[in-house]
Amino acid sequence: MKKFSIKPNIYFQKSSVEYLKELRGKKALIITDSFMVQSGYINRMLRILENKGIDYEVFSDVKPDPPIEIVAIGIKKMQITKPDVVIALGGGSSIDAAKSIIMIATDIIFKEDNNYTKPLFVAIPTTSGTGSEVTDFSVITFGDKKVPLVDEMLLPDVAILDADFVKSVPSQITADTAIDALTHAIEAYVSMEACDFTDALAEKSIKIIFEYFLRAYRNGEDMEAREKIHNASCMAGVAFANASLGINHSMAHALGGAFHIPHGRANAILLPYVIMYNANLQGNEETRAAKRYSEIAKILGLPSPTVKDGVFSLISAIKIIMKESNTPLTLKQAKIDKREFISKIDSMADTAMKDRCTVYNPRVVTKEDIRKLFVEVYGE
Ligand code: NAD
Repeated sequence: MKKFSIKPNIYFQKSSVEYLKELRGKKALIITDSFMVQSGYINRMLRILENKGIDYEVFSDVKPDPPIEIVAIGIKKMQITKPDVVIALGGGSSIDAAKSIIMIATDIIFKEDNNYTKPLFVAIPTTSGTGSEVTDFSVITFGDKKVPLVDEMLLPDVAILDADFVKSVPSQITADTAIDALTHAIEAYVSMEACDFTDALAEKSIKIIFEYFLRAYRNGEDMEAREKIHNASCMAGVAFANASLGINHSMAHALGGAFHIPHGRANAILLPYVIMYNANLQGNEETRAAKRYSEIAKILGLPSPTVKDGVFSLISAIKIIMKESNTPLTLKQAKIDKREFISKIDSMADTAMKDRCTVYNPRVVTKEDIRKLFVEVYGE
């Protein structure tokens, strides 16, 4: 028996942030990063809360790849605030930090006050990539390790997809995050847990990203493209929340912990190599993964007279959008120091093997496979 679930209510299109006017509550805690405060993005939301007479506190200390120390400070803030509404405003880092803060702090506050219940959790993504607004994942950094925590309690209640919040995303972050979303959709599509429901969302998401990504990258003011990519990112999020991911993400988490390379960029660099590895074209038999990648090529209208051709076409198409968006194709091009990289390969391979995403990879992997892949991905 399989299960497919979509929990958050999703409000989308221009001005969907106005949903906040329907909020009921006395006290809100806003969890965000300093950019959202300095840029004034937060003000639109604060005005709505003020007009409704909802008292609020702002916790704006979130940093990219949120470290557990920041989560701990956020938990203290929530213990003091005891909000009945929490709004996460920001990229995946702010939403992930909010998820862990809410889950842990609710438990602590409940132990002190049995009347306290989990606050309503509203997530407003300001990047189009992680899908965190609809997933039960929260990726937290412990020292030099990024750990994906997975629990239904982490799921937001409401997701607001208002593309006005992504207009200012710089082009390189637009590229990193959109290819992150593409990786989610592709990994969900080839995952061992994929099903008709996740396929539908993954397929649509992949098609939209190939159609609109370069438009959004080249012109951030192209609101049609921005909105499409914002929706695609969320759809890919629902797909992978149900089908899970694979070693692309396990390896990206290991890389991100060791080198703080932006998560989406790490995923992008790994993607062509991981597809090639998973497709395993050397064997006599066509693998399930190779057939699935080839199906994606067909969906995109790429040449795929044979399964093998389809896999190569998909890899080429991905490399084209990477080149067009100035995304490095290797870790060397991403300016990762070779000596340091080699010294960390073993521990990164260990981390990737232990990552939850590895379980759902379409090809069974060994630590040695991951080590070899890391060497390949570094590049000449
Ligand atoms: P991010 O949240 O780390 O933000 C990256 C940078 O972009 C920050 O400096 C931020 O201030 C800036 N930024 C955000 N919105 C902006 C805007 N509208 N205009 C200008 N600048 C803006 O980046 P991200 O890629 O969204 O999130 C990455 C994190 O999400 C990683 O830790 C990754 O592991 C995690 N992640 C989580 C999930 C999940 O399901 N929970 C999935 C994928 C990734």
